[in-house]
Amino acid sequence: SPIPDYLAEALGSVEFDQSGATADYIPELADADPDRLAVSFCTEDGRRYSQGDADVEFSIQSISKPFVYALALADRGFDEVLAKVGVEPTGDAFNELSLEPGTGRPLNPMINAGAITVHTLVGPPGATPEARNERIVDGLSAFAGRRLRVDQRVYESEISCAYRNRALANMLRANEIIDEGPLVAVAGYTRQCSLLVTVEDLAMMAATLANRGVNPVTGAPVVPAAVVRQTLSVMATCGMYDGAGDWMTRVGIPAKSGVSGGLIGALPGQAGIATFSPRLDRHGNSVRGVDLFRRFTSDMGMHLMEVP
Ligand code: GLU
Repeated sequence: SPIPDYLAEALGSVEFDQSGATADYIPELADADPDRLAVSFCTEDGRRYSQGDADVEFSIQSISKPFVYALALADRGFDEVLAKVGVEPTGDAFNELSLEPGTGRPLNPMINAGAITVHTLVGPPGATPEARNERIVDGLSAFAGRRLRVDQRVYESEISCAYRNRALANMLRANEIIDEGPLVAVAGYTRQCSLLVTVEDLAMMAATLANRGVNPVTGAPVVPAAVVRQTLSVMATCGMYDGAGDWMTRVGIPAKSGVSGGLIGALPGQAGIATFSPRLDRHGNSVRGVDLFRRFTSDMGMHLMEVP
């Protein structure tokens, strides 16, 4: 069939590019096999196509951010979440300490300060950290259509050197943006980042966003359509770290990348797409993943600003 052939050929076209480097600030990620390469598509009617290392698990890292944002919006409503975390792109790196002057809010949910805050807004007010972690595993599993689990080694590795995220959480606590112990918030956020996924899981998660919040394979309603609109909008403006403008002009779909080398894109009403390749560019985005998405846009005309 033409789609698997096309995907295999696309992987072949980027396979020999060894530029970029794996993230080195988390020991467990620095050791990952840099040559892994995979792609997966999941259409809004649940057809799935994958090529390459599609069954290799890796930690979800920052790709958890939009999905946990969606859960927080669904659980607490827009007003409560927006009071704590804005929706303005920063153009800064993901771990920058950039808070809005005056309010002290993190500027958006895709930078770490915003994502740590969003983590604390999942579940009913006053939920225990354990209940919140459970809600996040359940919620992300519903997006993925299978039970996900935490990689304890990645978690330990990252928490052992999470100095910067602890600094961010302390600032958030000092500004009364989070109202709990900063270390508890960072531990929960780090757990969320340590969930293991494959590129097929990520494609289905993105396809659930592309399909108005309903998982296209299991049929489970995961989050309401209004939450999806908000989440995809934030991905479009802030999803690719400080490379977001370049991404939106060249690829043109809402997306999110993570330091372990995953990359997702959601084409509303059509499909979720995911790639996996661990070497990153200077913004922290997967080199071969960005190349693949550029290719998909030019081959399939998926840029949202282009009249089909
Ligand atoms: N857990 C990572 C961190 O907070 C996620 C970073 C990322 O994927 O961009 O540093």
